[in-house]
Amino acid sequence: MAKGSSKRGGARADRPRLLVASDDGRVFEHDTLELALDTGLDVVRAAHKDVIPIPKDWALMAMPGTRPVGYDPTTGRFETVTSFVDDDGVPFAPWAVAVHPPPGYVRAFHPAAEYQDTTHPDVKLRRLAEEEAQRKKGTLAILDGGDEAARPGLPLWAYTAAGMTSKGPVAGLFLADEVSRWEPRLFYRADLDEKIAARLADDPDNRVLAQLARCGKDYLCCCAQNIFYERWEGALPIAPACTAACLGCLSKEPAWETPVPQKRLGFQPTVEEIARVIVHHLERAPEPMISFGQGCEGEPTMNGPVIVEAIARARAQTKRGVINLNTNGSRPETIRACARAGCGALRVSINTFDRELWAAYYRPSDFTFDDVIRSLYVGRDEGMHLSINLLLWPGWTDRMAEIDAISKLVDDGALQMIQLRNLCVDPGHFRTMLPPRERRGIVLGVKGFVAELRRRHPALRFGTFNPRLAADWYREVPAFAGRL
Ligand code: SF4
Ligand code: SF4
Repeated sequence: MAKGSSKRGGARADRPRLLVASDDGRVFEHDTLELALDTGLDVVRAAHKDVIPIPKDWALMAMPGTRPVGYDPTTGRFETVTSFVDDDGVPFAPWAVAVHPPPGYVRAFHPAAEYQDTTHPDVKLRRLAEEEAQRKKGTLAILDGGDEAARPGLPLWAYTAAGMTSKGPVAGLFLADEVSRWEPRLFYRADLDEKIAARLADDPDNRVLAQLARCGKDYLCCCAQNIFYERWEGALPIAPACTAACLGCLSKEPAWETPVPQKRLGFQPTVEEIARVIVHHLERAPEPMISFGQGCEGEPTMNGPVIVEAIARARAQTKRGVINLNTNGSRPETIRACARAGCGALRVSINTFDRELWAAYYRPSDFTFDDVIRSLYVGRDEGMHLSINLLLWPGWTDRMAEIDAISKLVDDGALQMIQLRNLCVDPGHFRTMLPPRERRGIVLGVKGFVAELRRRHPALRFGTFNPRLAADWYREVPAFAGRL
């Protein structure tokens, strides 16, 4: 059994070391194993170029239902750690350790781990439903298989490899945007409650504002707080339902009970409620932008007449600022109507340009992959600024086939920016859905993926946030403001 230790010396201290976690949240450096990285295809020994130092106050996460994998430099082999001894000599079965990239950062490597539960969510859902029915009938006292079988799935984070060097923690990620508008010191300030109370008193019957107050305070949503700070990009949630049922949906608690961080709003706002929030924000904020579908509501184009009329009503009162529509691309004709009503920017979410995997992840109700692509061409024809929210999965999105599909959009004038986002799913579930290595073609690694797209399309913009389109100087900023 390996023993935990926090003191290291000699040449090996330069190599990132493996971290393991106990089920009570303690994290230990492994005595002999180095950090290993999962590219999504292979497990590799971590080199310094693969990781960057991260601040000590970034939270490390344990991954229940996994066993960490490290690299043994004395044998040249990768090893799964099944047992570990803490500093008091108490043995335990360790879990892998990960970090979730904060805003602006993109995951390049998964944690190297063995997943003990790779059950597909639908299978798990059926099993849980059957067990629930049996429990109701009194024929099942406990879940068959004990706690491990009842594991509801890992929470929806972008689990990223993290290790330790003599200088501090490191992680397999990179910065992909400038973050000056998103620093924590700009949010959660002492005057937030006061500003929320004043704004609610101003428009007391507006249920959207009440939802935004919850989003800003309870869910710590920066774009919701911007509504009350009256600045920059403000979120505007309007959709209680969606046209898809994504495996990694952040707002809809799936029936198999994977914990999700935010709850959707539970009502359909009126045109008037929505228009009042738009006008108030666009008229007052510096660099004003209002964004529908900002991440954890349903699909804002689902109720087309409401969003279109709200935009038109707002635009009748102000021409200032940018109205931005984040969408899954299910309703191209509603997008067209939004553009004609005064919406100037479109961001379409997509996890892959492979139809089969797209459908397996999005689980669309009444639309197809072709609708998603058509949405971008509709946006082009209507003169919108066009982004995709590319939900990255190392080992899949970084394939040459994805680059070729993106290149076609750029060449057709149907894409100006890629927002690099980390696909947040239970990795144990998602890995089972991916085609085998022989069907993936050339895989470049996430940094190689970005570098190749930049080589092909020097003007294509990259980032992780919606672009600051309302800033006078926006056109002059570099196409890539991160660090590869
Ligand atoms: S499209 Fe967005 S809101 Fe709809 S299910 Fe997927 S992640 Fe959730
Ligand atoms: S729905 Fe989500 S993104 Fe939108 S304001 Fe609320 S917390 Fe923010």
